[in-house]
Amino acid sequence: MSAVDRDRLRALIAREAADFTARHPRSRAAFADAAHLFGRVPMTWMNKRAGAFPLYLDRASGAEVTDIDGLTYADFALGDTAAMAGHSPAPVVEAVQQRFADLGGATAMLPTEDAEWVGAELSRRFAPTRWSFSLTATDANRWAIRIVRAVTGRPKILVNAYCYHGSVDESLIVVGPDGGGAMRPGNVGAPVDVTVTSRVAEFNDLDALERQLAHGDVAAVLMEPALKNIGIVLPDPGYLEGVRALTRRSGTLLIIDETHTFSVGPGGACRAWDLEPDLVVIGKAIGGGIPAGAYGMSAEFADAALGRDDLDLIDMGGVGGTLAGNALSVAAMRATLEQVLTEAAFDHMLALATRYTDGVRAIFAAHDAPWSVVQLGARAEYRFSPRPPRSGTEAHEATDELLDDWFHLFLANRGVLLTPFHNMALMSPATTAAQVDRHLEVLGDAVAEVLG
Ligand code: PMP
Repeated sequence: MSAVDRDRLRALIAREAADFTARHPRSRAAFADAAHLFGRVPMTWMNKRAGAFPLYLDRASGAEVTDIDGLTYADFALGDTAAMAGHSPAPVVEAVQQRFADLGGATAMLPTEDAEWVGAELSRRFAPTRWSFSLTATDANRWAIRIVRAVTGRPKILVNAYCYHGSVDESLIVVGPDGGGAMRPGNVGAPVDVTVTSRVAEFNDLDALERQLAHGDVAAVLMEPALKNIGIVLPDPGYLEGVRALTRRSGTLLIIDETHTFSVGPGGACRAWDLEPDLVVIGKAIGGGIPAGAYGMSAEFADAALGRDDLDLIDMGGVGGTLAGNALSVAAMRATLEQVLTEAAFDHMLALATRYTDGVRAIFAAHDAPWSVVQLGARAEYRFSPRPPRSGTEAHEATDELLDDWFHLFLANRGVLLTPFHNMALMSPATTAAQVDRHLEVLGDAVAEVLG
């Protein structure tokens, strides 16, 4: 928690919330009229917001979003990474137009030649050499988990406490009071107690990982190389090498989920940090805004799975989806990887994220704010704790929802959009230095007022 007076903070938030409501009569009415939606929104997480209602989208382009009240925002949420390529980048629009309208056939149940191009490019960037596609990172994780279980014959998956890999049953586990696994609070309709399917260790805790792997029942460790969904938690020096050594020693596979750490660089953390995963999962940004996901594996692992005639990998064995790998999704991935999220684009994104991070640090220093900021490639996130958390549980405990609301509302009222779940700013190839500077200017005002 911080030194900010809570009553004063609540009063400041109330002022900004009233302003937010006054500025958005159409969004407010659209939400009030949404009587046929579960929770009044198309997806229940859209109710995660600081104002009384979500902003309704009119249009988006590059790194800008315009709401139905005609207000335009510098968008640092970028679809929680799904729009890291920017909104509707021209090459993706062209590829989608060509595939869907000119040639036709998004769902013809036939492969296209683009798929091999994408597989080869993902191999060049992330190392695994055999790829299969999905439409979401959640599904890519689910299918990867099924296959590693089948191939290893081991029942459990190990994840880090407060990880997020999508709505994957096995991942909804935290460290309980006795140091073992416990159901993550809020888990909706778990099919079985999560400790039946999973083990857990804190991020950056190699001793706990070693203890858990010693049971010999873990098929794979599924992890992000830096936690990203509970705020950014960076790996300690030597931690990822330690994870690889322990997994190898215990005959456990390592699945790296690069869905968000793709922001580290063109080949994600795998390439930038020389990781040697057995499988890689990725989703969101690789489709440039069109649903797409993928999981990749070594040739040896692929052969082991394909060589098993007791596994139904073709029909109803539990792996796959009708629309997965469809021609439209694959065309969008190709355009995104070939023309948008290029090496040069990452140079630009990383430089902007550094400019932003340095700026935030300077603002906190100027105001003696006991807060920290962490950069992870093209993104950065600030936390209301003097030093960045080292584990998911530490990050969870450092959450300050009131301060989150303050910054989200203050920024939104001044034309800057953050992802609703974090104080995160992500850069796209279309993001400009002027947008970053505007963000910093508004953030400086927000910090000055709340600490003033
Ligand atoms: N893996 C990670 C690391 C993620 O951050 C997310 C989403 N935040 C997912 C998987 C799931 O992605 P999707 O919701 O697109 O399935």
